[in-house]
Amino acid sequence: MDYDAEGSHDGRPCPKCGSDRTISWHFSEGFDELECRACGYRSDAGELTALRRESGDLLRRDEEAPIPAPGRPLQA
Ligand SMILES: [Zn+2]
Repeated sequence: MDYDAEGSHDGRPCPKCGSDRTISWHFSEGFDELECRACGYRSDAGELTALRRESGDLLRRDEEAPIPAPGRPLQA
């Protein structure tokens, strides 16, 4: 699955330090994250990290082994 995010400078204030040097990440999955360039705040850093790791794994094994066919019936 593709994991796309687009960062934009929406000027949303950081909830932690109040700076407007923030980047809004708009994910194609339909949710937003807020990243602050001033203090390093992330609205959900843990989830982002997990998702990145997941997509990295997907990239590494982009070729999945085909499901083996069921065993051939033995002929008597
Ligand atoms: Zn901040």
